[in-house]
Amino acid sequence: MTEGTLLAGLDIGGSKVLAVAVDTSAADRRARVVESARLSTGLGPEGVVDTAARALTALAARVSGEGAALPRDLFRGVGIGIPGLVDAARGQITHAVNLGVGTGGLALAERLGRRLDLPVVVENDVNAAALGAASHLRLGQVDMAYLSIGTGMAAGIVLGGELRRGPHNAAGEIGHVPVDSNGPLCSCGQRGCLESVASGSAIAARWKPREGSELPAGQDLFAAAADGDEEARRIRDEVADYLAAAVRMLALTVDVDLIVLGGGVAEVGEPLRHAVAKALDRQATGSPFLRGLDLAARLTVVPRDQPVAAIGAALLAQSPPPVPAEATKVLDGVLKQDLPA
Ligand SMILES: [Zn+2]
Repeated sequence: MTEGTLLAGLDIGGSKVLAVAVDTSAADRRARVVESARLSTGLGPEGVVDTAARALTALAARVSGEGAALPRDLFRGVGIGIPGLVDAARGQITHAVNLGVGTGGLALAERLGRRLDLPVVVENDVNAAALGAASHLRLGQVDMAYLSIGTGMAAGIVLGGELRRGPHNAAGEIGHVPVDSNGPLCSCGQRGCLESVASGSAIAARWKPREGSELPAGQDLFAAAADGDEEARRIRDEVADYLAAAVRMLALTVDVDLIVLGGGVAEVGEPLRHAVAKALDRQATGSPFLRGLDLAARLTVVPRDQPVAAIGAALLAQSPPPVPAEATKVLDGVLKQDLPA
């Protein structure tokens, strides 16, 4: 193994951390996972930094075998996908409740970089997964949105091969768009958000896996619906309607060519794509405008065996996020001027 030819990517979740070593030197430039390591996540700022460092050390040991090299001897850079509010330009996270990182935040890129003597970039996990999926599907310049349906719900948007983060790092946060004013209270404080009616946790609140089933709620729901269970069919169709609303929102806002369904619930696979496509067609029945857009034909599901968040994070390590343009001065001029009466 030539030294420093690999990139390392970490997908840090509330219970597990997945580390992958990625090779991008193939002629087709496709990212290839050459080794991986999995660890339980330590919580709190210290726990997160420590787990990330240990995961990378374990990964380096696996790549180098007997030699047990250090991460800095093997990797050109490290990318991390992590939930919560991520300031990618500064490598900081705040408000990652599942990881025990609160408003005090964590300068993850700086602290881990110092500890490992390696460049580290940090990105929101859904954004990282969007980039990983775009790379796996070899989308090139094709515009896409990755809709993550997991514990929460959010989308990552990749336009012309580049992530669209937005100046407040909130691009694609459609999980907190309310769609039912009488719906359940959401963790964000609003009522009836998409996340509260169509995420993996929303499904788990409405469907208990059948006795003897070891499947997560989402997969069991689709299996029961396929077996003819009336209640399961009703819940599946309602969830699919809300997911179709999310897809429509993405397509009508950024007009992407492709919408990739991902996250834990997407482990359902083709039956999920089919249910959402059917809902989109149903909703377009009375609308020549929607029918003309043919949103159902733009859907796909992320391949189950691909750790897209970790791969996408690794790819980000070779193209660190740009420092955001200085918008304040321009906005001062636009927003603070007195308008004529
Ligand atoms: Zn919400």
